[in-house]
Amino acid sequence: MRGKMNRYEKHILLKEIGKKGQEKLLSSRVAIIGCGGLGSVIATNLARAGVGEIRIVDRDYVEIDNLQRQILFEEEDAEKRVPKAISAVEKLRKVNSEINLVPIVEDVSPLNIEKIIKGVDAVADGTDNMETRFLINDACIKYSIPWVYGAVIGVEGMTMNILPGKTACLRCFIKNIPSPGILPTCETAGILNTAVNVIASIQSTELIKILTGKKFRREAIHFDVWHGIFTPIKVKKLSSCISCGRKIFEFLDGKYTKYTDSTVLCGRKAVQINPNLGKEISFEVLYEKLKDIGNVEFNEYMLRFHKDKYEFIVFKNGRTIIKGTGDKNRAKSLYARYIGF
Ligand SMILES: [Zn+2]
Repeated sequence: MRGKMNRYEKHILLKEIGKKGQEKLLSSRVAIIGCGGLGSVIATNLARAGVGEIRIVDRDYVEIDNLQRQILFEEEDAEKRVPKAISAVEKLRKVNSEINLVPIVEDVSPLNIEKIIKGVDAVADGTDNMETRFLINDACIKYSIPWVYGAVIGVEGMTMNILPGKTACLRCFIKNIPSPGILPTCETAGILNTAVNVIASIQSTELIKILTGKKFRREAIHFDVWHGIFTPIKVKKLSSCISCGRKIFEFLDGKYTKYTDSTVLCGRKAVQINPNLGKEISFEVLYEKLKDIGNVEFNEYMLRFHKDKYEFIVFKNGRTIIKGTGDKNRAKSLYARYIGF
């Protein structure tokens, strides 16, 4: 045990953490949903801090334009298109082999979120969209699990701690669901890499406080990292809130998510089609079907298919990313034409 604790000496020396706090971290479980810019930094901080179990959940694979800010990934990951959750866990196992790192290559949806967060002490938001954040909010309120919201766009970021029953929730803060196309995305606005690091480090700090049972920040934070303007925001817990007040879980109940869904992916001209089949597909069979009409290859994790200007990346559960179009309907028709489950 002494050797094991040696690794964490600099945290144990802090009165804010100490030996008791370190023991709590070692016996804690966290799910990090989304392992892009924010998730990479949070996963790194928590793995080095010795959080006992870290589930890293991401639906995507590494691309070259991720390397500007997503600190866990390297050029080779982008060349090989390694799933982010797999790459993150491989890197972090070399950093800390004494903790349990669990990669989950899945698109978080109302169908799987309850299983993904089951038994965790906290959830970290590393996502890039409001729909998934509202889903996390519903699930965490339902099961009384603390979660830490985080978002960065341009040179600014926000973060907020949500402790069910104790603080306001995300729907107390954002009452009306934003319409599609209104919010800026990293594709339209760009993203400052240091802003990602700052917000993710604040999220990590709050997670460490929550896991060790210390006093956590009650206000939300807005931080313009470029201009150095730090603004705390008081958020009132509303008894009329649909999620934490009235316990109506619209996102968890799938009101806004059809089971076969499509999403225009942030940062590139691509659409994801998610058939949520609930069973694995055979790449061998699909390969046979496609090999005479385009270029097709597959590995353990995914099948790639090129046809004209389109590229299809198919995962084991049937989820498919179609590159070369930003139009959902076009993507759905391409999916139906070539994959067609
Ligand atoms: Zn609420």
